[in-house]
Amino acid sequence: MVKSSVLGYPRIGADREWKKALEAYWSGKLEESEFHRQLQEIRLNHLRKQQEKGIDFIAVNDFSYYDHILDTSTMFGIIPKRFPYEGGTVPLSVYYGIARGTKDATASEMTKWFNTNYHYIVPELGEASPVLTENRPLKAYREAKEKLGIEGKPVIVGPLTFLKLSKGYCISDTDDWLGRLLPLYVQMLQELAREGVQWVQIDEPILVTKLSAEDVQRLKTIYETFAASVPNLNIMLQTYFESVENYSDIVALPVNGIGLDFVHGLSGNLSSIKALGFPVDKVLGAGVIDGRGIWKAPLREKLVLVEELAEIVTAERLIVQTSCSLLHVPVSVNHETKLGAELKDALAFADEKLDEIVLLAKAVSRGTAAIASELEKRDLALQAIKLSGERNRSDIQHAVFAISAQSPVRSRPFSERHIAQQKKWQLPIFPTTTIGSFPQSSEVRKARQQWRKGEWNNEQYANFIREQIDIWIKLQEEIGLDVLVHGEFERTDMVEFFGEKLAGFAFTQNGWVQSYGSRCVKPPIIFGDVAFKEVMTVEETKYAQTRTKRPVKGMLTGPITIMNWSFVREDISREQIAYQLAYALRQEVEALEQAGIGMIQVDEPAVREGLPLKEDDQAKYLSWAVNAFRMATCTVQDTTQIHTHMCYCEFHDMIHSIEAMDADVISIETSRSHGELIHSFELNTYKLGIGLGVYDIHSPRIPRVEEMTSMIERALRVLDPKLFWINPDCGLKTRGVEETVDSLRNMVEATQNARAKH
Ligand code: GLN
Ligand code: ZN
Repeated sequence: MVKSSVLGYPRIGADREWKKALEAYWSGKLEESEFHRQLQEIRLNHLRKQQEKGIDFIAVNDFSYYDHILDTSTMFGIIPKRFPYEGGTVPLSVYYGIARGTKDATASEMTKWFNTNYHYIVPELGEASPVLTENRPLKAYREAKEKLGIEGKPVIVGPLTFLKLSKGYCISDTDDWLGRLLPLYVQMLQELAREGVQWVQIDEPILVTKLSAEDVQRLKTIYETFAASVPNLNIMLQTYFESVENYSDIVALPVNGIGLDFVHGLSGNLSSIKALGFPVDKVLGAGVIDGRGIWKAPLREKLVLVEELAEIVTAERLIVQTSCSLLHVPVSVNHETKLGAELKDALAFADEKLDEIVLLAKAVSRGTAAIASELEKRDLALQAIKLSGERNRSDIQHAVFAISAQSPVRSRPFSERHIAQQKKWQLPIFPTTTIGSFPQSSEVRKARQQWRKGEWNNEQYANFIREQIDIWIKLQEEIGLDVLVHGEFERTDMVEFFGEKLAGFAFTQNGWVQSYGSRCVKPPIIFGDVAFKEVMTVEETKYAQTRTKRPVKGMLTGPITIMNWSFVREDISREQIAYQLAYALRQEVEALEQAGIGMIQVDEPAVREGLPLKEDDQAKYLSWAVNAFRMATCTVQDTTQIHTHMCYCEFHDMIHSIEAMDADVISIETSRSHGELIHSFELNTYKLGIGLGVYDIHSPRIPRVEEMTSMIERALRVLDPKLFWINPDCGLKTRGVEETVDSLRNMVEATQNARAKH
């Protein structure tokens, strides 16, 4: 019988009860003991569910009080010095202090987990002397066994991945650090072995990235050490999110199983295994059910794949599993009551994926007849969505095909547009602007609630929005900004707002996934052909423009960002989806221009995070991403100024792509990585308009004029003053009104000083 395995299950609970418990505890509404009790209940429920479905290898220790990387660093006693800690089990106050900051100490940095939208807390190795403060995997194993009789498979973040994701040490100290951590891992594994644990899953997703020769050597040291120290414990070395680099080195490691992703790394992993075979002394964890996507698996195709693999490794040594932890998908489709039947029938969230794993294992063991009725049901569901009207809009497909055949270029190059735009707009040197949103005060949120509940009619709500626009246009003029915005008061979320107005999108009621800590997001689903239906932003923008003589920038979310922050259909390429979005947005850009809006910002903060993990795939992605942006923006007149905006710091390696977007002006977040970004501009001359954020909007602190002045001066050492804009790092919607106004006043003062000087 082929075995089934799950690499991890969502923590948040079907009703986000995990989030609610965390937040209640933080706010002091929940006693610590009751908090532990509630979290245990959630955790056991998740295990019970997997047990009832018949999963053979159930992950334990995948659950967390916040984040599994933070669990790992605190388990090893790696506590930044700024938090009071005296050894022993790390108290919750310290654990959450590191995650969220305290009044005396800033939180640790948080960053994206590979190419997902999950964020982990970056370990700060610093001067810590690591010790094993508690054996969390062992605790989780015992709990599952005692309470539910489950023979759990503890999940552990592997040493190489942990080290590579940590900061606060010199590369030259890597081996020192490995030397300090390895004995702790060994101690932990020995305790597990003594307890009678049969399998552990050691996650090493870092193995899908390029490894140096030193890292390959480290990998050998690590797993040889484990093999020697815990010879009776079965180790499943687990990778995911892409195919592994260094296949031959990895399969030669002295472990008992290798877990590979046959969804996101299908072609690479499959060709390696076919060309180089698979060692007879190991088990293959075949990740064939997508742990990240939300669609039902085409089980017939998956079966063919599994059988192909079984021929190479034999069925006895094959485990059918999810491609990665199910952390990245919502809990269950069952809770959705408002989705159309066609769409709902085509979806599989975490719970439905458990069924898929079990079905697949059953079919491999006993033949397809064993699951015949399931297969038929699935065929029908997948056929229905394939043939649905929403997926087959030939009008859209033809139009997108036609425009993607043309090269999306503005009618004149930037150098000429720039002259025409200067003539038209007569902006001062170092024009000032903001990124789009202004504070979403409780008043704004309340108004939206009232309108959504039907207590306010459309007219009342529209009036309220207009009042807000009035207030902020006046304020912006008073502060002395040059290019104004309407403030985005009508929007909750920059993707949802557009998704609700475009065809091809669906919204779940409960499709939440963890983004970081207790923060969950509910991405829209792009399930059909995306199409423009009616103007989306013209009314508010046009209204704002009637209230001032200064230019008001229109504000749109770009095609790549909308796509990267949604779950998307898989029957067409991401490139095609991006082009459909671009075509829809182009119509909005044109409508704004028609309505007299002469500056239009198309935000693309999420371009960077869509970057494929494999370097070889990156250029292609960037090329079509740039194309999509240009498609959306290229048809305007020379004098219409296209702006874009990006945040989240890391673009030093993609400046050429940013330049290729050919936006007349880009605003970039820089204040948190100023040195680094400026450095990359030293190496590359950027020839278009650019505003480097001069203050961090993530903090309520009001930046002083001098701080911004020094930011400006540093930037001007490498950027052309004639192309330089001054703006905050990002939108201001999460800030308070007063701090926003004061900060912007200081920004304008810093600008005036700079103007006097240059
Ligand atoms: N225009 C958006 C805003 O100001 C941009 C947000 C973002 O970049 N994340 O809120
Ligand atoms: Zn931003």
